[in-house]
Amino acid sequence: MARVYNFSAGPAVLPEEVLKEAADEMLDYRGTGMSVMEMSHRSKAFQTIIDEAEQDIRDLMNIPDNYKVLFLQGGASQQFAAVPMNLKKNGKAAYIVTGQWAKKAAQEAEKYLDVKVVASSADKTFSYIPDCSDLDIDDDVDYVYICENNTIYGTKFHTLPNTKGHELVADLSSCFLSEPVDVEKYGVIYGGVQKNIGPAGVVIAIIREDLIPETVENYVPTMLAWKTQADAGSLYNTPPCYGIYICGKVFKWIKKMGGLDAMKKHNEEKAKILYDFLDQSELFKGTVAKEDRSLMNVPFVTGNDELDAKFVAEAKAAGLENLKGHRSVGGMRASIYNAMPIEGVKALVDFMKKFEAENK
Ligand SMILES: *Cc1c(COP(=O)(O)O)cnc(C)c1O
Repeated sequence: MARVYNFSAGPAVLPEEVLKEAADEMLDYRGTGMSVMEMSHRSKAFQTIIDEAEQDIRDLMNIPDNYKVLFLQGGASQQFAAVPMNLKKNGKAAYIVTGQWAKKAAQEAEKYLDVKVVASSADKTFSYIPDCSDLDIDDDVDYVYICENNTIYGTKFHTLPNTKGHELVADLSSCFLSEPVDVEKYGVIYGGVQKNIGPAGVVIAIIREDLIPETVENYVPTMLAWKTQADAGSLYNTPPCYGIYICGKVFKWIKKMGGLDAMKKHNEEKAKILYDFLDQSELFKGTVAKEDRSLMNVPFVTGNDELDAKFVAEAKAAGLENLKGHRSVGGMRASIYNAMPIEGVKALVDFMKKFEAENK
């Protein structure tokens, strides 16, 4: 068996230890005589799995008691609609557009309320995070929305926007559990787990209780009203059981690794190796403003499309997979999530050095 270094943006690399444990438990989960995939979501065994998963993410992120943790389906994209549907009061929201995912979220929200884009980095192909310290935000907006880490472009909000007292809603899909987060600064945090936490099919939403409305407009599907799942402990209908089980294992793995402070240190160390190389390379170049660089997604280019394609192909042959940039930006992108070992980043940089020497 040969595992590659997988730099995919998502679905993405998971801790090998977690995969092995899941393999060991595949046919007989802890004496139940069945796989977690075959188990009733109303069983005692599964209730323990979801309860422990919730407690572990609460411990990791220090989530206050007045926030609900929901395990949902439909991808992060489904929350693009659920957010305006549940938070709509005055019918207005402010969006900060720093990439495709924020743009898509804003477009979806426009179906349900008035969206005002209060800041954007579209003028420079989303290669930076705009100054959000003093935005023109109307007093009566229901919330301010950001995508905190821009998976495609490789930028991250290192300082949260000044929302002028309004609720902050953030899509954390590609930086979830990569570093400590002060949950109380947000009204709603959500993200698809397939970037940094688990298998595709689970979305985790962390919502302050008072933002979960008792009633929503009639057109809102039952499944998209947060209250439905909040009241049912995420078990209103059949949840993505197996995905939740793997997320739970990843939470325990992060705890064992030392929690989110340790994750941040590990991620900073990895990113530094790659960014330091990019900053002195004569062939490769990073594509975003240095101060806004993501620790998770690192896009880079040679400036020559043919050479980029050659790099991606030769890297693949050397066991460094999924380095092709997003189809909308081209070039390369290395996603170096929690589960990417430092050896993987070192192997990538060694390969880049060799490629540079051969293609001067
Ligand atoms: C991948 C991604 C999405 C879309 O996630 P789906 O689960 O496929 O809907 C949304 N936001 C961000 C930041 C992402 O990285």
